[in-house]
This record gives sequence, structure tokens and C-alpha cells, in this order.
Amino acid sequence: MKKTTGLNREITSKWRPATQAVRGGTWRSEHGETSEALFLTSGYTYDDAETVAARFAGEQQGMTYSRLQNPTVAMVEERIALMEGAEACRMQATGMAAMTTALLCQLSQGDHVVAARAAFGSCRWLTDSLLPRWGITTTTIDARDNDAWKAAIQPNTKVFFFETPANPTMDIVDMAYVCGLAKEHGITTVVDNAFATSVLQRPMDFGADVVAYSATKLMDGQGRVLAGAVCGSEKWINDVLLPFQRNTGPNCSPFNAWVVHKGLETLELRAMRQSENALAVGKFLEGRVPKMLHPGLASHPQHNLAMSQMKACGPIFSFVLDGGRKQAMSLLNALELVDISNNIGDSRSLCCHPASTTHYSVSAEQREIMGVEEGMLRINIGLEDPQDLIEDLDQALRKVGL
Ligand SMILES: *Cc1c(COP(=O)(O)O)cnc(C)c1O
Repeated sequence: MKKTTGLNREITSKWRPATQAVRGGTWRSEHGETSEALFLTSGYTYDDAETVAARFAGEQQGMTYSRLQNPTVAMVEERIALMEGAEACRMQATGMAAMTTALLCQLSQGDHVVAARAAFGSCRWLTDSLLPRWGITTTTIDARDNDAWKAAIQPNTKVFFFETPANPTMDIVDMAYVCGLAKEHGITTVVDNAFATSVLQRPMDFGADVVAYSATKLMDGQGRVLAGAVCGSEKWINDVLLPFQRNTGPNCSPFNAWVVHKGLETLELRAMRQSENALAVGKFLEGRVPKMLHPGLASHPQHNLAMSQMKACGPIFSFVLDGGRKQAMSLLNALELVDISNNIGDSRSLCCHPASTTHYSVSAEQREIMGVEEGMLRINIGLEDPQDLIEDLDQALRKVGL
């Protein structure tokens, strides 16, 4: 198979992101297809026994088994890495497979992790339940507070783990400071960049070592498949991540990878338009609800930091109603256009009540410390006309007395 671009990172890495998004990681077969081929195959065949032996010995490039490599998956990995400004990337079955792999591949019994307390529910389960069970201690902190990161460092701290913006409180982490601090102490920084993606924010530009993704969200962007990705240096991916991934098998299916590949081509257009729409809807809601958590609005306490790290605010924000869970659920039930759904990054507008869904598995006490209030709703703004969304929210707010 002819790798029209894959072989030459010297050229593709100089392309601007919009070009990388549609042409990076394209390996054309002898058929010259325009759209990248979907290789739904688990195994490979060889012309002779020496070829397969050479591939297993690492002396010859080529596919051997789809848990180790697959052309469709490899194409997407190349595209994601280019867009991220990373040397290498490996796709995973889901975002949680990506987070689990990114952490477990480098941690051992006796290590310590500092993690942001505001995080996706399953990420909190990793740091609160799974890691401690395996003798890895964790400290969760208010990640907005630079001093808290410094104070939490122990001699055995191996990893800093955070999201920015965080799900669902929209906490922003000062990446230049936190990644710099980590570097000083030989700590590896793992950033969950699901809310922004590389088109809105590139954590490695601020010193992050590893960027992990739920590709289910904005990368697919149309609510079709589960997928994940981990980006890092070539050395880290080869020496640290791959031994874990190849032997434990959290791989992304070629079909899901192919869907994400197509999603990447329109990622920037969608992320920018959805951010614009989210700003318009946020400005409307700001006058109507008691509390907004929207990094694109000047009222967000970390607005300036967010905008210094992000190209646009992203499609997701949260707001809090005074009437607790009852009023929040009534508002959800009154929506006619916006769907009740706990997914995000979709081209459709979706709204959910985090305390009873995405953060149900986090204890009520921890939710309170994290700031996941009972009256909080999180909304993903899609590609609809924002005026239709505003009108829908307006009628729903009136039904709940706001
Ligand atoms: C959704 C999400 C995940 C998990 O991704 P899946 O693809 O659902 O496994 C992890 N982190 C963040 C911030 C998310 O929003």
C-alpha cells in the first residue's frame, strides 16, 4: 500500500491544522481511493515465512495482527498526532480505555498521583477506587489553585492528571504553570482534553506530556461511535504505552476509527460553530438563571485564563438553578428541541443533570466538594440555529417559573 502522506512526516507536520485534518494520515491503496479505506480485518497474510518472521522481529515494517496494528486505525492515529502537535498517538476503544491505559501503563504499586477533583465521574472512579486498590495512592485537589498542585507533591508523585475545562464544573487549569511544575519534579502530566480537542486547545503547547481523549465526543461529533486516543512522545508511546496496550488489548475497532477519521475532517468547523452558538445561548441564559459556569463569558472567574489557552470556548457549559434537583429536572422535562442526553460533543444540542447521571457514581459528599450541585444542568450546544435553541430554553424556563 502506498502511504501518500504517512511516510513523510517532514512534509505533513508543516501543514497547517486545517490541511492536516483532511489530508494527514492518508495511506492510499493501489486503488487510489479518495476517502480512506476501511480495513475490517483482524489478521494479515504473508507471501513467505521469512516476511512474517522479520515483522515479528521488528526488522521489517508491516501489519501482523490488529491488536498490534491496523491500517485504518494507524491512519487515524497519524492524523490525530499531527493535529495535536504530538509525535505519536494510539487509539483506544473508548475514552475511559484511553484514561485507564494512560495511567496504568506508567504506574506501579507505591506510586502517587495528584488529580483534579472536578472530573468526569469515571475518571474520579479511577483515582478514588481503582488506583488505591492496586497500591497507588492519590490526592485530589482543587485544580484551579496552583498552590494546591505544589502542596500535593510527594517524593513518589509520578503523575498529574486533570481535565480543562473540567466536566461538568468548567474549572480551568493553568496548564503552563501546572505542566511546568510537573517538569521541575520529573512528574508526567496527563491531560484529558475531551472538552476542547486539538482545534480549540493543544495542551502540549503548554508543556503537557500526554494528552488523552474520549474521541466519542467532539472528534466523532455526531454521536455514532465510542473511541479514545492517547498522544505522547514517540519514546513514551513505544516504551511505556505500547507494552501495556499490546498485551492488554484496549484497542479501537477499525470501523469506529474510520468514523472518527471522517469526523476529524469537519472537527474545526463544528467546534468553532458550536462554540459560537454556545456563546450566543450562554449570553441569553446569563440573564435568566442564577449561576452560569461558562468559560466563554466574562463572568466566569477564569475567563481570561480559559481564553488564553483556548481558541474558542467550546460547545459545553453548565448552569445552576436555585430550585435544586426538582427544578433542574422540570426544566429538562420542559425542553422540546434540546434532547435530554448525557452525551456531549454531538452536533445536536443535549442537556443533562450531572448529579443523577454522569456523576451518579460519585458520592453526594464528593459531588458537593467538586461543585456538582443538585440544581446543576450541563448543556452541549450543537449546530442548530442558536435562535431556535434560545426560544426552546426560553419556553422551558418560563414553565419552571424563570
Ligand atoms: C466522556 C468523557 C470520558 C469518557 O469517554 P468515553 O468515550 O465515554 O469512554 C472521559 N473524560 C471526559 C472529560 C469525558 O467527557
